Amino acid sequence: MTSAKAISILGSTGSIGTQTLDIVRSHPDRFRVVGMAAGRNIKLLAEQIAEFKPEIVATHDESLLPELKALVKRLPDQPQMIAGKEAIAEIARYGDAESVVTGIVGCAGLLPTIAAIEAGKDIALANKETLIAGGPVVLPLIKKHGVKLLPADSEHSAIFQCLQGVPEGGLRRIILTASGGAFRDLPVEKLATVTVKDALKHPNWSMGQKITIDSATLMNKGLEVIEAHYLFGKDYDDIDIVVHPQSIIHSLIEVQDTSVLAQLGWPDMRLPLLYALSYPERIYTNWEKFDLVKAGDLTFREPDHAKYPCMNLAYAAGRAGGSMPAVLNAANEQAVALFLEEKIQFLDIPRVIEKVCDRHQADNNTSPALADILQADQWARQAVLELQPQLVV
Ligand code: MG
Repeated sequence: MTSAKAISILGSTGSIGTQTLDIVRSHPDRFRVVGMAAGRNIKLLAEQIAEFKPEIVATHDESLLPELKALVKRLPDQPQMIAGKEAIAEIARYGDAESVVTGIVGCAGLLPTIAAIEAGKDIALANKETLIAGGPVVLPLIKKHGVKLLPADSEHSAIFQCLQGVPEGGLRRIILTASGGAFRDLPVEKLATVTVKDALKHPNWSMGQKITIDSATLMNKGLEVIEAHYLFGKDYDDIDIVVHPQSIIHSLIEVQDTSVLAQLGWPDMRLPLLYALSYPERIYTNWEKFDLVKAGDLTFREPDHAKYPCMNLAYAAGRAGGSMPAVLNAANEQAVALFLEEKIQFLDIPRVIEKVCDRHQADNNTSPALADILQADQWARQAVLELQPQLVV
């Protein structure tokens, strides 16, 4: 009998975290949780502690630690409980976990992911920013520590799955599919007045708030292009986007002889998460089996770059390289936060990102160290806040 693989989860109460725990719940013989880190949802975290019995738990916010301790004080197995920013990195590098699921949204996930890599853990990568902002620093670390970086995003998992058995140099082009987001059927002139509530309605995928807004602006796809560049080593000219409203084909690759390979399935984040944890094994699940006839018509169209300028902003930032993708990513995070607070409008998101990237052009550091990336990130957030008053009409 093989023993259950030890994993830790950063962001256990979020969308990625709860879906990962769903996998652990159905496969207790394959996976066990040793460490969990969460933000502010202490009640859910306490329930997760009771169910999954981790050895160590962290909350980002130190003021919530007494409440967490009170909630779990009757449990027979008390985990070690720590709090604060450094505590998340502590979970990342803790104990005998073989794999760390990085489900923390935004640049906050970068430092803990680096901590996990330096501790020799494989990464189930659900935090895009790790590579988008940190690519120039993270990739050499992956090599140095000999760990695996396994994509848990549906598109990158699809590409990774298609690549199994493709020899080195065989990959010619990556084709990322995009659902088109909440506004894919809305005329461009209506975009100016869409609300936060409208933007949070994603047609196919159930995800966190930030990424759902990113899907509506198609920045999510732009960020995925940059992530694909770092993960699979292809030039930006060889990474394309196609809109595929049904989200059945999760992405495709073209190999040198023009053969195209695709990965299909129902839109369910658990599948890429499971593969990132079980790779190279394939674990039997009782999930609904895929049915081509039930899936019905699969359609494709060209992405509308005029309606969704975020895609081209991301390509431009990716091509500029260096610290520019970190700036794009941070400006986007800050702009989305302002939109969610109803302080700026939907179309202000690409506007402000473009301005901030333009400002960074002269300062772009083409071979940034970690400190340079973190500094660029901070600078870009501040730049968005400074530009915000000019956006309010
Ligand atoms: Mg995705």
